[in-house]
Amino acid sequence: MEYIYPDYYKKFQCIAEKCEDTCCAGWGIVIDDKSLKKYKNYKGGFGNRLRNSIDWKEKSFEQTEKRCAFLNESNLCDIYSEAGADMLCMTCRRYPRHYEEFENLREVSLSLSCPEVARMVLGNKDKVTFQSSYLEKKEEEYEEFDFFLFTKLQEIREFFLEVIQNREMSLEYRMALITAAAHDIQGRISRGKLFEIDDLLERFRKKSFQIKAKRKFEEYEGCPMENFKTIKRIMGNLHELEVLNENWPNFLKECEEILYSKGEEYYNAQKQEFKKYYKEKEYEYEQIMIYFLFGYLSGAVYDENAYDKVRFAVVNTLLLGEIDIAMWIKNKKQLDFCGQVDIVHRFARELEHSDPNLDEMEVMIGYQEEYSLDNLLYCIMN
Ligand code: SF4
Repeated sequence: MEYIYPDYYKKFQCIAEKCEDTCCAGWGIVIDDKSLKKYKNYKGGFGNRLRNSIDWKEKSFEQTEKRCAFLNESNLCDIYSEAGADMLCMTCRRYPRHYEEFENLREVSLSLSCPEVARMVLGNKDKVTFQSSYLEKKEEEYEEFDFFLFTKLQEIREFFLEVIQNREMSLEYRMALITAAAHDIQGRISRGKLFEIDDLLERFRKKSFQIKAKRKFEEYEGCPMENFKTIKRIMGNLHELEVLNENWPNFLKECEEILYSKGEEYYNAQKQEFKKYYKEKEYEYEQIMIYFLFGYLSGAVYDENAYDKVRFAVVNTLLLGEIDIAMWIKNKKQLDFCGQVDIVHRFARELEHSDPNLDEMEVMIGYQEEYSLDNLLYCIMN
């Protein structure tokens, strides 16, 4: 079995009680069948507590005020301290590691919803690379796994990562290029013309094509009204999602109030000022784009929808940019690293700790006009 992971993966260490958040609150922790069996048979007083604190129907730990029943006042896990690390369920043992499963391949990432991971990802000024290792395991065969599509998706992702990390181009241009490329590639996937993808990627790689594309993208610049209308709607759509942290909706409302209540001209002036202020740290958005592209794009092998995965990465990066501007305005035009880590990990937690939220985002991106190629290009280029 091959495992692929980002270069920072092995450096991660949980900081436990020093963590400013906890991963054991705010979301339902699903228990795997093997752990459920162990909990069922655990002896002694703690065994009784285990059995009484599990929702056996939902296969998850009971919660009190959205905190796991085993999370104690010091934000430490009672299962870990009373029964040992071996008794943790798979979700708790793995978090913040996330595994995407493909035939004979596991793509492993670390979730930005953990503040310590957010610090590692955002604090990395270098270009991320990916490593692989092999473990001797039985060969897997997935029914209906489209290996040809998967190979193409890997090539597409490699090209997109290369573009997003090309710091000779502006970040706006890099994001616009992969969004447009994903749009065209999707056409080939949907029509079953996978064999045309190599030529298409070749075309997107050519300098002459990139110059032409740049001119096209520049036509979207200088349209702040289009950007304002679209991004305001995309921000507003976040209210459609399931709430995990009760403070989140008010936080979003506050951001929207700061950004949009004084009109388009004010918003645009603030956005341009922030871009200059944050220019040196633009690589943080590059790392966010890489994170979402690596984590989600290969999953298109199961639904043949690569374009939506790329739009998902772009939209999340744009949304984080909006929240950054709002917090920068609020904090007297300052946004420090701690502030950014806090924003990114909270955002990832709301979005990625809820399967319904990921599904809902996918539906919105796939069907609503504000996520069209033109509208996203307005948001990216302004
Ligand atoms: S959120 Fe991350 S650093 Fe904090 S306790 Fe969980 S795994 Fe550890």
